[in-house]
Amino acid sequence: MRRGLITDIKPAPARSGRPVSEPSHLAMPSFAEPHLHPDRAYVGSPRPPRSLDDAIEAGARPEGYVADTAAERARRLFSTLLANGATRARGHVGCHPEHVAAPRWEVMGEVREQMKKVMEIELVAFAVLDTLTDREETLRLQGDLSMGRYQLIGGSPNHDSRPSESISSMMELAVRTGVDVDVHIDETLDPARLLMDFALDEVESRHLEGRVSFSHCCLLSALPEQQTRSLARRMAGLGITVNCQPRTNLILHEYRVHSPRRALAPINLLIDEGVHVRLGVDNVDDTFCPFPTADPLEVGYLARLAGHLYDDFRLISSLSDGRPALRSGERADLTLVEANTLNEALSLRPGRITMKEGVVVASGSN
Ligand SMILES: [Zn+2]
Repeated sequence: MRRGLITDIKPAPARSGRPVSEPSHLAMPSFAEPHLHPDRAYVGSPRPPRSLDDAIEAGARPEGYVADTAAERARRLFSTLLANGATRARGHVGCHPEHVAAPRWEVMGEVREQMKKVMEIELVAFAVLDTLTDREETLRLQGDLSMGRYQLIGGSPNHDSRPSESISSMMELAVRTGVDVDVHIDETLDPARLLMDFALDEVESRHLEGRVSFSHCCLLSALPEQQTRSLARRMAGLGITVNCQPRTNLILHEYRVHSPRRALAPINLLIDEGVHVRLGVDNVDDTFCPFPTADPLEVGYLARLAGHLYDDFRLISSLSDGRPALRSGERADLTLVEANTLNEALSLRPGRITMKEGVVVASGSN
């Protein structure tokens, strides 16, 4: 490595008379975590969620967001991911009129600034609960986006009272301000609530190709295969990235349903049809997901286990924003995992060393 770049990758030279020592670590591209909720992380939860609506309701209570500790909790989340091999992360920051302690941007913006030497953090304005169809709020959002307070616009239109209008408003904000879109879409198993086709029409008519991510897409797991494939082909054609979050998808849906559908978007089908797929941690120890781990390898393990993502290159690529392996000439952002095989790394999740531009930025074990 030289000047922050990988200059060459070659076999270790054999020293005369001595065998080459066994490798101790796997080297892979550093992780790019695509989907977090840093403002909610580690607030805890009274009990595991029974559904997405149940988690939203519990999260809307004052104890679902504790303003005093927000910066400390967000820093802990990003630092944990850094130690676990991530050098990039994207966080959705709650943003709606009745939020407790709104706006949350100041706090998250400060954390982003404090960590910028070791981690590239993108913040998404997570405009929920009808923010996007409120004229005054939309104007405020437009100002915030134009000022660069958030790098992307998002929301969860399936939970708004006028879902299509929310989608149009979000896409319009992207056109006006030049930011990209990352929208929680079809995080449901009810085919009557499908919004993806309308969202694809909007991406096409507003020429937002290559600038939009769809997060969750749980409904794709419950539609007939033909319909799923045709949506996947449209997504591929419009350069949509799909962010899957196996932890919350698996826990939030079908509680107490006999023969539950598992709400996980069909990862292999999407990749087969040419869609970019990324795997994210999503919620950490909050009302949506009670587990305190924030580890891309755990998410990869779940995707392999629950989504049959067996191909190593596909799996690494989905954790590293499309980088399936280390390559000469690329930035020396890498993760060294103390394991012999990828399955060992995924299931044991041992200690690692994180490097950004050739410099060690974190090391140790969790
Ligand atoms: Zn989310």
